[in-house]
Amino acid sequence: MHANLRLLAGCLIALMSTTASAAWQVISAEPGKRVEIDRSSITRDERGKTVALGRIILEKPIIDPKTSSAYRIVQALSSYDCTARSYSTLKRSYFKEEGQLLREEEVKVQVEMPVRSGMLDDKLLREVCRPKAVGEAATAARRTADKVNEASGELRKANEALLQKEVKRANLQAPPAEKAEPESKRATPFAPVGRTVASAPAPMIGALAAPRREARPHAMGHAEPPAAPQAHAEFHWSYEAEGGPDNWGRLRPEYATCASGKRQSPIDIRDGFRVDLEPVQFVYRPSQFRVVDNGHTIQVEVSGSSISLLGKNYELVQFHFHRPSEERVNGKSFDMVAHLVHRSEDGRLAVVAVLLEKGVEHPLIQTVWNNLPLEKNEYVTPPGLSIDLGQLLPADKSYYTYMGSLTTPPCSEGVLWLVLKQPQQISPEQLAIFTRLYRHNARPIQPSFGRMIKESR
Ligand SMILES: [Zn+2]
Repeated sequence: MHANLRLLAGCLIALMSTTASAAWQVISAEPGKRVEIDRSSITRDERGKTVALGRIILEKPIIDPKTSSAYRIVQALSSYDCTARSYSTLKRSYFKEEGQLLREEEVKVQVEMPVRSGMLDDKLLREVCRPKAVGEAATAARRTADKVNEASGELRKANEALLQKEVKRANLQAPPAEKAEPESKRATPFAPVGRTVASAPAPMIGALAAPRREARPHAMGHAEPPAAPQAHAEFHWSYEAEGGPDNWGRLRPEYATCASGKRQSPIDIRDGFRVDLEPVQFVYRPSQFRVVDNGHTIQVEVSGSSISLLGKNYELVQFHFHRPSEERVNGKSFDMVAHLVHRSEDGRLAVVAVLLEKGVEHPLIQTVWNNLPLEKNEYVTPPGLSIDLGQLLPADKSYYTYMGSLTTPPCSEGVLWLVLKQPQQISPEQLAIFTRLYRHNARPIQPSFGRMIKESR
């Protein structure tokens, strides 16, 4: 799945977060655990202290002695004294998974802990106490730098293409494109959030510091942490070579789940339980729309439509395309797939997949293709034009369902997948147009690790 959601970021940042507008920034990451703070949570309280929400995300769950349930995420609300360099924890929340709260506890006796220089708590304190304006300025600077990099990247590509031509003529080998390894450096044991797991068989949080860098604004609008200017270039994820799916988990600490996750998508859908599934209630309406080519796919952002299932409502945010289909059904892949990305109020995601196969022209897709932007990352918003989202859906709404992930970095899990069984048709000409833009933008099949799959019978 993709997004290029600078403008939508306000609403989408929350997609994979537990708070409505959380902006999680990785403070440290190493195999097994990651420490983050929510930059949007940083506030001053009436005593002049700075309050911020932090969390540790464990790769493997831990059993909570109080409830005997497993949790994987511990959030801690802490109060920092930026002048005295101390902190105390106010509240801890234990989550089974993203968005699945297990329990919360107020800290009754708040102990003021000194911040040790050079340790991870020092790093946290500095992040939390850093004036917001500076951070925002840095982010803005970083964004500008990104744009420049992108432009120069395009230039470099063009130059390389030219060079390749020259080289072919000269019958020589082209020089390899230069790439920089993501950097990481040793940091120290963790303190404020770390103590929150001390009652459990606690993981010590020795940590590999995550270099601060801004997440690029794709992939379902995950948070964009502010970033310090960086001297060197970085890998951007793609579908081939160094940036390709096999390396996603290593490109950035935030992408680790792509490699370590056990609930990844797409999968080959087979051996599902054939049962009476509750029908998905589609409330799809005509909507204005805007189209963007985000460098990974063509994406269409819409509003005013929703689905509901099991008493939960999810709003349709955007849809986008992959070629060929990412998901397979009994080993079979399809010409393309449309992923319709929905989000609930509490930030849960449900993606409806509509398989596309060669046949007659699809009127809605034609309208989208008619409005393709000339430039990447530029939006086209056709004035006065709307699309009838109901046209995206096949007549038969029976489906397969399983729990999976985003299929693009950061590959976050906890995504409810609803794959409609009946494919829709798209004309050969329409398929050819997408192919000229994206010949192959599908993540390979991921292991299912015995996941339950259910299907309408
Ligand atoms: Zn997708």
